[in-house]
Amino acid sequence: MPIRPVFPALWITWGAWFAMVFGVVGLIRVSWGAWRRHRWRARGWCVHCGYNLGGVVDPCPECGHASA
Ligand SMILES: [Zn+2]
Repeated sequence: MPIRPVFPALWITWGAWFAMVFGVVGLIRVSWGAWRRHRWRARGWCVHCGYNLGGVVDPCPECGHASA
């Protein structure tokens, strides 16, 4: 019966946990950004900074981002 924990197995377990947590966090961040850009574009706002372009100004006077 081993007294000390089996370190390679422990590292693999921790590695799997970290990969899963960071994967989920990354997925949420990416989907949140995509949803936000979609919402801002639908409202006629700059997709980069959220400035209200009024649907005519291009590029954005606030940050210089060209939406077209
Ligand atoms: Zn902008």
